[in-house]
Amino acid sequence: MSLEDRTHTALHVLKGAAANILGIKWTKGVSVKGNHGRLTLQFDRKPTEEEILRIQEEANRKIREDIPIRVLEMDRNEAEELWGDLIYDVFLIPESIRRLQICHIENWNVNACNKKHTGSTGEIGELKISKTRYRIAKQVLEISYDITE
Ligand SMILES: [Zn+2]
Repeated sequence: MSLEDRTHTALHVLKGAAANILGIKWTKGVSVKGNHGRLTLQFDRKPTEEEILRIQEEANRKIREDIPIRVLEMDRNEAEELWGDLIYDVFLIPESIRRLQICHIENWNVNACNKKHTGSTGEIGELKISKTRYRIAKQVLEISYDITE
């Protein structure tokens, strides 16, 4: 498993934590380079430092639980019946694509994603939020993080 696959998988765990703590639903962008990642989320206010710390703690708790990450390939209609628009990000998947790869961390995060993922959350390694930035004009929260190399 490459370092960037681990950094990518951490996006799913971090998103689940942000959804739990802040009620965030939509991802607006992601970037991964080496052990650094950045998750950009649609959000209507600047979170407190305490909320950011709780997101980091929740993400690491889920990593330590070391639960399976299931990658399924399924019909788009079937996936929408199961999870509705939870599987989507702000950037749309063209209607012509009818089979989706779904990355599913049970009771945590589900997302249509065609990237490679670790087999379990524990393989990611510890996650540390390095910086957050709230962009009021765009109504987005950027969370930058590093994982242990
Ligand atoms: Zn993914």
